[in-house]
Amino acid sequence: MPVIEVTNLHKRYGDVVAVDDVSFTVEAGEIFGILGPNGAGKTTTVECVAGLRSPDRGRVSVLGLDPRRDATQLRERVGVQLQESQLPDQLRVGEALELYASFYRDPADPGELIDKLGLGEKRKTPYKKLSGGQKQRLSIALALVGNPEIAILDELTTGLDPQARRDTWALIEQVRDSGVTIVLVTHFMEEAERLCDRLAVIDRGRVVALDSPAGLVSSVAPEQRIRFRPSAPVDDRLFTDLPEVTSVQRTGGQVVVTGTGDVLHAVTSVLARNQIIAADLRLEQSTLDDAFVELTGHRPAE
Ligand code: ATP
Repeated sequence: MPVIEVTNLHKRYGDVVAVDDVSFTVEAGEIFGILGPNGAGKTTTVECVAGLRSPDRGRVSVLGLDPRRDATQLRERVGVQLQESQLPDQLRVGEALELYASFYRDPADPGELIDKLGLGEKRKTPYKKLSGGQKQRLSIALALVGNPEIAILDELTTGLDPQARRDTWALIEQVRDSGVTIVLVTHFMEEAERLCDRLAVIDRGRVVALDSPAGLVSSVAPEQRIRFRPSAPVDDRLFTDLPEVTSVQRTGGQVVVTGTGDVLHAVTSVLARNQIIAADLRLEQSTLDDAFVELTGHRPAE
């Protein structure tokens, strides 16, 4: 059963079409990623899901409810962490959690949540004295303090150093394992690949692909490259005659064979038949970065 259904969503700001006919569903218990370049319409889409914006057209259903009409009911069941959430400078970590917990009927225990998010030692620290990573973890805690069934997290790890980013990923996996469905907006490929069960790639307001990270890579950028140094001179035709091979290039003493399907097996078999040894053999497969470039024409962030 989908917990979120977005159908033919449209939203424009004046002349700018931010979301142009977006549809997707999110299943219970999954981490669903919304990936796309800057300005693609990701935030606007999740704001419509969170009930913070009204769509111009289309339908959004969250837990069977309408995010605008049924906002009061959904507030208890959907936690939202939006970009750059700002809190008053002097508000302490513990106070912020207590305050937010008071907004909910059945909140999580703020103390437990603080420990779980690794903020135990910062309980009495004012917001302005937290590091970027700590602010981020606090904003996740605030999204989770109402014990939501769905958490919407926007640009979760932007601005974090690599270690803080990894820690945050581990945390999100724990949250998912506790049964919370997560919608994650990101423009980091590694984050999408590591965390998301399924992804919608959005570009210029449209969904250009929707699949698991692995499914996306194999459908959009299925090519593999095999690099090696042959032990004896070898004719390109040996490879170009193989149906799996799309091209052969030479760089220095290296042969680079590009192809699809079981190209590795095809190439190694033909080499063996010709008694050629392939030294320094490496197989390079496409990544989500390649698929992203293919789909959007943009270089991925980082
Ligand atoms: P980013 O990754 O940079 O946050 P995004 O994919 O989340 O981008 P949105 O923030 O949804 O994209 O913006 C989509 C488009 O709508 C952009 O062209 C943006 O400039 C425009 N836009 C967003 N919010 C507003 C607003 N309040 N008023 C006018 N235009 C807006």
